[in-house]
Amino acid sequence: MEKVKKNVAILGSTGSIGTQALDVIRQNPDLFSVEVLTAHSNADLLIRQAIEFNPNAVVIGDEDRYPYVRDALASFPIKVFAGQDSVSQVVEMEQIDLVLNALVGYAGLKPTLNAIRAGKHIALANKETLVVAGDLVMDLAAENRVMILPVDSEHSAIFQCLAGEYRKNVEKIILTASGGPFRGKNHEHLRKVRKEAALVHPNWKMGDKITIDSASMMNKGLEIIEAKWLFDLLPDQIEVIVHPQSIIHSIVQFVDGSMKAQMGLPDMRLPILYALSYPDRLLTDLPRFNFSVYPELTFEPPDKDLFRNLGLAFEALNKGGNMPCILNAANEIAVQAFLEDRISFLGMPRLIESCMHSAGFIRKPSYDDYVQTNRETREKALEYLLLHAES
Ligand code: NDP
Ligand code: MG
Repeated sequence: MEKVKKNVAILGSTGSIGTQALDVIRQNPDLFSVEVLTAHSNADLLIRQAIEFNPNAVVIGDEDRYPYVRDALASFPIKVFAGQDSVSQVVEMEQIDLVLNALVGYAGLKPTLNAIRAGKHIALANKETLVVAGDLVMDLAAENRVMILPVDSEHSAIFQCLAGEYRKNVEKIILTASGGPFRGKNHEHLRKVRKEAALVHPNWKMGDKITIDSASMMNKGLEIIEAKWLFDLLPDQIEVIVHPQSIIHSIVQFVDGSMKAQMGLPDMRLPILYALSYPDRLLTDLPRFNFSVYPELTFEPPDKDLFRNLGLAFEALNKGGNMPCILNAANEIAVQAFLEDRISFLGMPRLIESCMHSAGFIRKPSYDDYVQTNRETREKALEYLLLHAES
């Protein structure tokens, strides 16, 4: 019997996750067809991807680059759109079965909501979507009978551990963290680190924003909030353990005390593939884990005093409402400023804390409240940067 192909839209196809997703699809041309590709600024790569995968439509987020992309693809039967609104709208195209959201930051929220409303299943890499408005996203997904399939490796691990289990039997989950490039360093060291050191991750090659988030432990902070929504957990059911080898991707502990861990080499193509092929698994020739290369798997508690972002994220998780949205917006400004040498590494949690403690709290925000919270927090964070200019 001929297999029915899954029609996939990839938002952020030029990024780290996007290119690895295309790699997975390239290996499985009988199973997946690319319907839509979107990029923000990397027009040349988008054009190359479009010519290779022949999607129905592409979107270039940066409108200035539209004529360039349009002209390059003029002789192909590919629709070309431009602008942020088009990224959000293109997910509604009828042929699409699954939207892989590999955008970075708050920009991922609206396309996710639109895709869910249009009844598309979501493979979600863009964790910020759930951090900002997890309640809205999960409610809307349930209403539209849409699956939210995690791509983040820890959440994919939890998702895999939960296969065949009753959710009521989960006692807690334990998210593993590599600890990033500054694991074991002291305050004195962190005071002076610059972006060049923070951009080198020991185990993963990722986009700049998540690489800085990993160095500052905010990535794990965002992930505890992401986990709360994906798996419907209470804050005290979520723990973090540092596991420098990144082989165990996360763990579920059940009410009987038994634990399940999911492991594998740190390669994002695995969780991407699982999200794309779910509930099936596909044969791959990806490198296999070899015990003799990893004679030791080690674990240690996170240093919450040094990496204050983790504590701030737990605070936001406990507080709920629009506090995670505030945390996220302040962090996006902090990371951008750090990448531009406008704030120090330890200045980032100070900025985030200041935004969290001065913001207007809303217990049950609407979508418009989230939009406003995001905008106001960014403004406040930019003001903070002006007042606390560091050189
Ligand atoms: P990258 O920065 O590598 O890629 C981001 C993609 O989104 C690019 O295609 C970029 O386009 C596009 N983009 C950026 N800003 C906008 C915008 N404002 N509007 C529309 N498109 C935009 O990020 P990653 O692939 O590393 O991460 C993507 C998401 O996945 C993040 O949320 C991250 O936290 C999450 N994630 C990533 C992992 C990884 O291994 N990389 C692991 C787990 C989660 P262009 O390049 O053309 O400018
Ligand atoms: Mg992760």
